[in-house]
Amino acid sequence: MIHIQQLQFQYPTGEFRLSIDEFSITKGSKVAVIGPSGSGKTTLLNLIAGIMTPLKGTVSVGDTQVSGLDDRERRDFRITNIGFVFQDFELLDYLNVLDNVLHPFRITGALSLDGEARARATNLAQEMGIGDKLKRNSNDLSHGEKQRVAICRALLPQPKIILADEATGNLDPDNKGLILDLLFQSVEDHGATLLAVTHDYELLRRFDRVVDFKQSQEGMN
Ligand code: ADP
Ligand code: MG
Repeated sequence: MIHIQQLQFQYPTGEFRLSIDEFSITKGSKVAVIGPSGSGKTTLLNLIAGIMTPLKGTVSVGDTQVSGLDDRERRDFRITNIGFVFQDFELLDYLNVLDNVLHPFRITGALSLDGEARARATNLAQEMGIGDKLKRNSNDLSHGEKQRVAICRALLPQPKIILADEATGNLDPDNKGLILDLLFQSVEDHGATLLAVTHDYELLRRFDRVVDFKQSQEGMN
């Protein structure tokens, strides 16, 4: 489902370099990515989502070579196919919870905001335990609540790929388990593929595979 080949990446500034010969994730699998801070985990997710493009090599998601698309195509591809739970949430603080969750539907013609999508948004928020906060400004939420809003927004378009960047970080153990249950449920319901960066080692046994980012830099498998 995700296939990276001969990838080289570097930011315009700084020393950091990412080089991946070969990395594949099969459709429907749940993969955890671990590794020290600064090892390039977030960079990897950004490259898969097409938020960044490699200097060399290819990134393919399904039948699409994301690294070969232009900016607009990459954006549309991302919004329709990829649910990204950002490490810092990236909620829009001038919007309430519901409007944050619905936002992807408003910024692309590729998703249609109909009654069905609205009903799903409400249901999802309820499942996530934030059903009573839909009209709340997203600034006035706890960290854990913001995290759930970010997850609802990522899952609502029923993406084929879910990229979760420390989506269970900074939560208490019960909520970590609950959030992971909901992510896994969504993956299973929609035959999606999950790539989740995590520092929660106690959760690793629930994944199909664990990629240790630091070790795999030599040759990711
Ligand atoms: P991780 O998610 O594993 O903590 P990141 O992918 O965020 O690591 O970052 C990898 C490295 O790239 C770090 O050294 C970080 O400082 C650097 N980096 C991240 N973003 C940028 C940027 N926009 N410009 C330059 N360097 C960056
Ligand atoms: Mg990171």
